[in-house]
Amino acid sequence: MSPNEKWKAARKQINRGELEVRYKRILLKLSGEALGTTKESIDLHHLQHYAQEIQKAHETGIEIAVVIGGGNIFRGTMSSSLNIDRVQGDHMGMLATIINAMALQSALENLNVYTRIMSGIRIDQVCEPFIRRRAIRHIEKGRVIIFSAGLGSPYFTTDSTASLRAVEIEAEVVLKGTQVDGIYSEDPMQNPKATRYEKISFQDAYKKNLQIMDKTAFTLCHENHLPIVVFDLKKSNNILNITKGHTVGTLVS
Ligand code: UDP
Repeated sequence: MSPNEKWKAARKQINRGELEVRYKRILLKLSGEALGTTKESIDLHHLQHYAQEIQKAHETGIEIAVVIGGGNIFRGTMSSSLNIDRVQGDHMGMLATIINAMALQSALENLNVYTRIMSGIRIDQVCEPFIRRRAIRHIEKGRVIIFSAGLGSPYFTTDSTASLRAVEIEAEVVLKGTQVDGIYSEDPMQNPKATRYEKISFQDAYKKNLQIMDKTAFTLCHENHLPIVVFDLKKSNNILNITKGHTVGTLVS
């Protein structure tokens, strides 16, 4: 059975209530930094790992959209040291996310997963522009959508893109992949006694000033009652286990 046939069969079971899943439609935020290493901006091993993790969750009939960052290649905040103005720098950062999206698309296609890249800025020879109804249509057909070029506007981040696109496509959760396995009371690298939260409310996260996503992104999730799961991207089966409802990382709700 091809991955798309597997997806369709599993999706039918989910729709008939024969297969229980916690989340049927998810938005995964993958930072650009997670793709690279100190030597390479895109590392083959990381790329293949994320593609496999997405594929494993996808074949269980889940609808998946991905927002990809560009920090491994360029961030708008780097522009001032290069004497480049911020808006120009932000556009460079958005183009960087398209490069990452193309790499992830190829890695998923190597696993025979159907994908579409949608972009926040027009780059028609490469991918489709973001059109909400088309995006929903793609995921309903079992294609993994990769949202690139952020929101297409400077001064935003791909975290904000993740929140907004999740709301727009009616995803049930934002999965925020990070280098640590959740949200801690303090920075676990600085204080080994820091404790991990299994669950935390939006209100408490505000009160404790926990840095989970940028404020715009976080507020958008809060106002739209969209839960966020912060989890370790490197650990195998995390995405799959979250969609099944297992406790992984930290749930903000
Ligand atoms: N960016 C932007 N508008 C957006 C999304 C991204 O201007 O809607 C630019 C911004 O310069 C940002 C860069 O693209 O620094 C790369 O995105 P981000 O830093 O969010 O990537 P990540 O940290 O996830 O790798």
